[in-house]
Amino acid sequence: MAEYDYDLFVIGAGSGGVRAARLAAMSGARVAVAEEHRVGGTCVIRGCVPKKFMVYASEFASHFKTARAYGWTVDDPRFDWPAFLAEKDKEIARLSGIYVTNLQNAGAELVHAKARLVDAHTVELVGKDRKVTAAKILIATGGRPWVPRDMPGVEHVITSDEAFHIEQLPKRMVIAGGGYIAVEFACIFNGLGVDVTLVHRGPNILRGFDDHVRAHLAEEMDKKGIKVLLGCQHDQVTKGPDGLTSHLSSGHEVTSDLVLFATGREPYVEGLGLEAAGVETRDGAIVVDAFSRTSVDGVWAVGDVTNRINLTPVAIREGAAFAQTEFYDNPTSFDHEMVASAVFSQPAIGSVGLTEAEARRQHGKVDIYFSRFRAMKHTFAGGDERALIKLVVDGESQRLLGCHVVAQDAPEIIQMAAVALKMGVTKAQWDSTCAVHPTLAEELVTMREKYMPQDLGAAA
Ligand code: NDP
Repeated sequence: MAEYDYDLFVIGAGSGGVRAARLAAMSGARVAVAEEHRVGGTCVIRGCVPKKFMVYASEFASHFKTARAYGWTVDDPRFDWPAFLAEKDKEIARLSGIYVTNLQNAGAELVHAKARLVDAHTVELVGKDRKVTAAKILIATGGRPWVPRDMPGVEHVITSDEAFHIEQLPKRMVIAGGGYIAVEFACIFNGLGVDVTLVHRGPNILRGFDDHVRAHLAEEMDKKGIKVLLGCQHDQVTKGPDGLTSHLSSGHEVTSDLVLFATGREPYVEGLGLEAAGVETRDGAIVVDAFSRTSVDGVWAVGDVTNRINLTPVAIREGAAFAQTEFYDNPTSFDHEMVASAVFSQPAIGSVGLTEAEARRQHGKVDIYFSRFRAMKHTFAGGDERALIKLVVDGESQRLLGCHVVAQDAPEIIQMAAVALKMGVTKAQWDSTCAVHPTLAEELVTMREKYMPQDLGAAA
């Protein structure tokens, strides 16, 4: 490999790229990583991590309310957005620094530049007037927000990238989209006292999630005062003396101080030189096989830029599998089945496996176990927030095909459920596990009655 400057050149220091680079470097390979922004990628800098801090910050509103019922005196709690932002930025800087240190400790070289593919073994460092060669090149440039660029007034809207840095909390806000980001930010800003309207083109939020989960969360969001406008989308946004007006396809107009578009993300391939190098893309994403190999020998890609499952832990596992295969002589492909995910809404969603509709399509006969209830924390405090738990079971083999939870701790709960589902647990094995009492999760292993669709009224 000495004919090249490096054994591995990674483009993008996000979750997938950093994991691959560190593992490869620890095998003794000569590794460099190029990053044009800050080290850490979407997750650390403008995604999961700062978002979770915002979720924590916003949840205090309901904690304060509940606290009174539990005997606490909570006098006039107030939220200081600039103070929170400063703390958040400090923590993000610390975490980004840890990523840099980890790369250095592993022996990887960090190059602050945008990198562009010249051919299968050559990369140009844009603006540095320098080309480097590598035996293997890994593209891990992630994704970036997508907005309908031809919509009149698109210049007035922000995306999630900017939402982490707005100088002042708006009084009124419109959020476009019904996916993860739209729903999470709607709950965050609602918790922080902003009057939020969510505008989504579909019949309900969170397409792809189980229908009961979608309906349940929409109802809980409504209870919190989030206005969810379904079946319509933005025709244009105009700016006037009273703020920004969202002109909707339904004929409605909503005026607010801030319009956030969360209408999806796209693979970040701009300026990467993919065409010149012959790397195949489909719908904007790099096409890869199970081992993350692209159409060009010597070039691999992992993470959101490949648009498989766009989640941080998936990118990490894809990066690790690449490193195992190419630098540890241990052919490894990441299994994209049964990947659990969470929506950090309020209440949150934890979900793994098939939805009821998917299970019925794929397996025909399925048994459903379903429960909707008020958790004891809320019954005590007189709150009306409800949790939802749903199991989707194969009617023949009795294996659990899906598990869906809507509750404050759903993301924590679903991680362990995912272990069991990944192992192919049957309903009888699942039920043989003794409950942990008193918890919300105990409901998971105590549901014995099959749910019939006509039960929904009673369950609700
Ligand atoms: P999603 O793909 O989840 O949602 C995009 C939303 O925008 C959908 O509701 C979609 O509607 C709507 N939309 C798309 N195009 C238009 C349009 N032209 N006009 C109006 N609405 C439109 O994307 P997000 O940006 O929310 O998140 C991107 C990805 O990031 C997620 O899929 C997920 O993989 C990841 N992510 C994960 C998180 C987590 O794990 N908690 C948190 C945040 C992001 P429709 O449904 O009709 O297509």
